[in-house]
Amino acid sequence: MTSFNFCAGPAMLPVAVMQQAQQELLNWQQQGCSVMEISHRSDSFIAMAAQAEQDFRDLLTIPDNYKVLFMHGGGRGQFSAVPLNLLQPGQSADYLISGAWSKSAVAEAKKYGNINALDIRCQSDLGLRSLVAPEDWTLSSDASYVHCCPNETVDGLEFTSLPTTDKTIVADLSSTILSRPIDINRYGVIYAGAQKNIGPSGLTLAIVREDLLPAANNTIPSVLDYRLAAENDSMYNTPPTFAWYLAGLVFKWLKQQGGVTEMATRNQAKSSLLYDFIDKSDFYHNDVDLAYRSWMNVPFFLADDRLNDAFLDQAEHHGLLALKGHRMVGGMRASLYNAMPIEGVQMLVSFMQEFERVNG
Ligand code: PMP
Repeated sequence: MTSFNFCAGPAMLPVAVMQQAQQELLNWQQQGCSVMEISHRSDSFIAMAAQAEQDFRDLLTIPDNYKVLFMHGGGRGQFSAVPLNLLQPGQSADYLISGAWSKSAVAEAKKYGNINALDIRCQSDLGLRSLVAPEDWTLSSDASYVHCCPNETVDGLEFTSLPTTDKTIVADLSSTILSRPIDINRYGVIYAGAQKNIGPSGLTLAIVREDLLPAANNTIPSVLDYRLAAENDSMYNTPPTFAWYLAGLVFKWLKQQGGVTEMATRNQAKSSLLYDFIDKSDFYHNDVDLAYRSWMNVPFFLADDRLNDAFLDQAEHHGLLALKGHRMVGGMRASLYNAMPIEGVQMLVSFMQEFERVNG
């Protein structure tokens, strides 16, 4: 049976990528062993790693004055890395709170500096979860940077207009990177855990404008130090080699599919299909303001909570996996990252229709 995995992360990976990895697992590049078992200092690994970086740069048109760092520590590692690398003693930063993850970023950053947290969450006139309009975000004049999370994975809420500011913008793109084109020049730092749109967990990508690299001889823990990572081609310590390799395969796959422009078209089509169905139904609903609905993570609720377990059980029997909503939000959540084909969403909608017919 074909199954589709709607997990928010670690998320499904393209089938073609998994098949290639399977084929090469025991004998990578005719070396008689796996890519997992060779030195990150070997010529073949370094060549593969450099190609993966180049493909990633090509996909997002990353200018030369930005470093791409392949790091450890996940999104949360970057919650610490950002203030450690960018905040000097006595300096402050603005953090927009748009949902659960940006709130967590604030809690971590507060360990290292003065953080001005701006809660931009609100309710729309219709009682939907919404955000304050960007022109009403009151940023401070002396912030070293403004941190935001344009796609909130837990809340299913996304904004596309970045803060209007001359300050450095730092963005957590863990759940939206590579899902559409972005203008890298508008950001100082972008970071993303790999486990949604890039590859397996364990790898974190950071795109850092060169002038923001910290001074040498600082007190930043070495594995989180952007300068050390940049100076050592992300191999100051042993990188997550298998995840790097797999990310490289994903980047090649993305290029073959037509890159991030094509992904944007597909991602918009996938999410519209699901939102349109939910909006037409009285049995299901989504509580996010239309203007801020996420392409990547679609939370939805059944009219009667008591049917949740039956919905999840039956969905699983139909090969529709991991639809349970985040424990903070409840209900259901369908994550529709790049690797999710439209067929998966069509199958989900058909299943939801049938479940409604029987139980509605
Ligand atoms: N930021 C966002 C937007 C996320 O979705 C997540 C994980 N779901 C994180 C940060 C935390 O990432 P990690 O678990 O890799 O530390």
